Amino acid sequence: MSQPIRLSAEAALTALLEHPHYRYRGCAPDPDDPRVAAGDNTVSVDAWQAPDVDGGELREVREAREAAAIDVCVGCPVMVQCLAYGSSLTPEGKLPEPYAILGGRTALERTKALVRERQAAPVPVAVSEPVPVEQLRTEQKLAVLRGLARFAEPDRVAVAAGLGDGLEGLRTAKWQIARLKTQLGLPKTATRVELLDAAVDRGLLDRSEVAAAETAGLGVSVPAGESPFRSGRRRAGRRGRRVVSVPPGQLAFDFDDQAAGASVTTLYPTTSLETAA
Ligand code: SF4
Repeated sequence: MSQPIRLSAEAALTALLEHPHYRYRGCAPDPDDPRVAAGDNTVSVDAWQAPDVDGGELREVREAREAAAIDVCVGCPVMVQCLAYGSSLTPEGKLPEPYAILGGRTALERTKALVRERQAAPVPVAVSEPVPVEQLRTEQKLAVLRGLARFAEPDRVAVAAGLGDGLEGLRTAKWQIARLKTQLGLPKTATRVELLDAAVDRGLLDRSEVAAAETAGLGVSVPAGESPFRSGRRRAGRRGRRVVSVPPGQLAFDFDDQAAGASVTTLYPTTSLETAA
């Protein structure tokens, strides 16, 4: 749902006061009796200004007063302009009239609307400017990117990047991955494939190096010399037929005996996997 446009308080007040019908507003003092409203002589001119929270007056009294004032607003020729002012924002981001009824809305209603609007507003995603590519061509960053092209899991990336298989290597790999996202101008929520794509775009990796990641999708890693296939499971009654599968939503293949041994390098070009019967 689109958010309402809120004018600046100064501009909205000017538009209201300078409206040609402002002088005929319902809450203006009646020319014959300035104690009551021009729009309804049974309503006091104070009806729009009294506190609209519990405690300032009896609840029943307040509700009756508000209802009478709002009835007058509904017939007011500048109701739209008045509500625009009542909903406008000061330079500090606050409502300009924290107590009055304006444009048929109590201050409490206008405040709640503003709070709802701000809570519904999307949180901006912080993205940094990409840094010059020379800063990204460090030995460790490039090694992490190459590791990330082969593996989804940070611990395996750490090993592939030569950072070691301990906690320190894992931390360094995670830190470098997060840092690369920032330095490539990506949000922190960027996926592995988005990071690899950005690295290819900046000339840090060859497209062929990330082909495996893009083909297999997120979460699939295929270490060199290790088959992504289920361990030799065979379907009953179909001897010699191997079921090859990867996680749901990705790829699944069957290989007949005659196909066994065929290269699957088209699937995982960087790992040169071979099926074995
Ligand atoms: S909309 Fe209501 S508060 Fe606003 S000028 Fe008209 S009567 Fe007064």
